[in-house]
Amino acid sequence: MALDLHAHSTFSDGLLSPQALCALAQKKQVHVIALCDHDTTDGLFPMAQAAQELVQQGYPLRSIASVELSAGEDGRTHILGYGVDPAHEALRASCAALRHKRASRGLQMVEALRDIGIEVPQALLPSMDSQGQAFGRPHIARALIHMGIVHTVDQAFDRYLNEGRPGYVPLAHQTASEAVALLREAGAVPVLAHPLRLHLSPELLEPLILSLRDAGLMGVEVFHPSAGRRDGHHLLGIAQRNGLLVTGGSDFHGDRGARAKLGGLPTGWQHWQEDLAALEEAMARCG
Ligand SMILES: [Zn+2]
Ligand SMILES: [Zn+2]
Repeated sequence: MALDLHAHSTFSDGLLSPQALCALAQKKQVHVIALCDHDTTDGLFPMAQAAQELVQQGYPLRSIASVELSAGEDGRTHILGYGVDPAHEALRASCAALRHKRASRGLQMVEALRDIGIEVPQALLPSMDSQGQAFGRPHIARALIHMGIVHTVDQAFDRYLNEGRPGYVPLAHQTASEAVALLREAGAVPVLAHPLRLHLSPELLEPLILSLRDAGLMGVEVFHPSAGRRDGHHLLGIAQRNGLLVTGGSDFHGDRGARAKLGGLPTGWQHWQEDLAALEEAMARCG
């Protein structure tokens, strides 16, 4: 029995459809999965359907309706929302507005790359009129891999797509507190995703988490590939000291060679059963 509370599908920048994700969950013996696509809840209905089909075939799979909102400076702060109402009007409107801005930013980045002599063929990018896809930087990264310019998604970001790199174009986002409040409004349990990715010193990280807790944050994603054993221990301490829920997930996108494997948690999450029960309890309260 395994769980994965952080996975992506083709509805944002993942490579697998919700159906394929559920099939993989069965193969990996994952029994609880949370689809957390970036800034969209569109994949949640097909995900629930696919999970339901497996249940009818006799494989117990619980799918938790979730979302991962980008917030803060350049959208670097990610807030997960567990047990979200996929049809919540204000949430859907906010996601749609961001998707629109992100798509035009993507085109500007393709142009910035052209300026330095890298011509990304249109055929390697998702078409702008496709409904589900949220055109983002990972799509450009994969195009650069396909073109043989880089080998990995990380390399594409480091060399071309991150702030300060030639293909970078900034994108304004809601604040992290606003994202937390919006998720609470949409009946979700807000959890700070992969805190280590914020690259803050321990002296700054805990006060940030506390200020987000004041805005309604309820948990911290302690177990994530970005956190090694020591970091995980530190994050667990912050969560426990401040009465916050503990979650974990692989952040699976489906890329080959990536560290994230569905259902594979990089550090030992010993008390996942208790933590999952606490999350379920919080979802029941918020929903
Ligand atoms: Zn994230
Ligand atoms: Zn993610």
